[in-house]
Amino acid sequence: MAPHGEKSDAAEDAMVSGAEKRPVSSVLIVIAMQTEALPVVNKFNLTEVPDSGFPKGVPWVRYHGFYKDLEINLVWPGKDESLGVDCVGTAPASLVTYASIQVLQPDLIINAGTAGGFKGKGACVGDIYLASDVAYHDRRIPIPVFDLYGVGLRLAYTTPSLQKELELKVGKLSTGNSLDMSPQDEASIVANDATVKDMEGAAVAYVADLLKVPAIFVKAVTDIVDGEKPTTEEFMQNLVAVTAALEQAVTKVIDFINGKCLSEL
Ligand code: SAH
Repeated sequence: MAPHGEKSDAAEDAMVSGAEKRPVSSVLIVIAMQTEALPVVNKFNLTEVPDSGFPKGVPWVRYHGFYKDLEINLVWPGKDESLGVDCVGTAPASLVTYASIQVLQPDLIINAGTAGGFKGKGACVGDIYLASDVAYHDRRIPIPVFDLYGVGLRLAYTTPSLQKELELKVGKLSTGNSLDMSPQDEASIVANDATVKDMEGAAVAYVADLLKVPAIFVKAVTDIVDGEKPTTEEFMQNLVAVTAALEQAVTKVIDFINGKCLSEL
């Protein structure tokens, strides 16, 4: 993770200095929706932690367990207290990532979830992408330098061996707080050269960068943004099948990470 165009190597070196020489021991998985989270929770036999260490009264949910040599925490921002729907989007993702890093001090963050994909960039429903970098497409501030701040481009932690071994597709991820895509968002997504589009990635990247924790982004395509079908319909239709594919991908990623140092990923 590194800010746009700045000291990426130095920042990454500093970030991983302690963790680099020993195998990863603690992984934090950040997921936005319950439907996405539960297959992973079940796969690793994680159990909900009643006293999560989070502030009293927040809806955030933490699951915990051990798998092989890894301690796994999975956090989900929970359901909106008055509306009862998943707390998707950037603000809950940032907050839960921040609180989780403070409480759990993970070696590595995996932001896993569903995403829209662009068929013009080669994406198909069910594809699993590892994001090479993440940026925002809905923070337009047309003032010099603030424009770059708004885009908030950050590199994911580089994992060439993981990508090669698991044969994951690699693409840029663009984040905004809407499921649909306005013409302005579209122009920014094109400018970001993105292949996948979600509602949390860049927010998780911001916090991970702030607190110097390496982060990777595993995104499963539920809908084709530049296709014929309406996004909401396609998203709902594919959600369950694609979350099963996401669970399998996360399992492969975790299996690959087990026993390895960050520098071996
Ligand atoms: N209608 C859904 C709303 C979920 S919002 C429901 O009732 O549950 C969509 C979630 O999936 C977000 O967490 C986002 O990160 C991801 N997502 C999937 N497809 C997306 C797309 N085309 N654009 C943006 N986010 C998308």
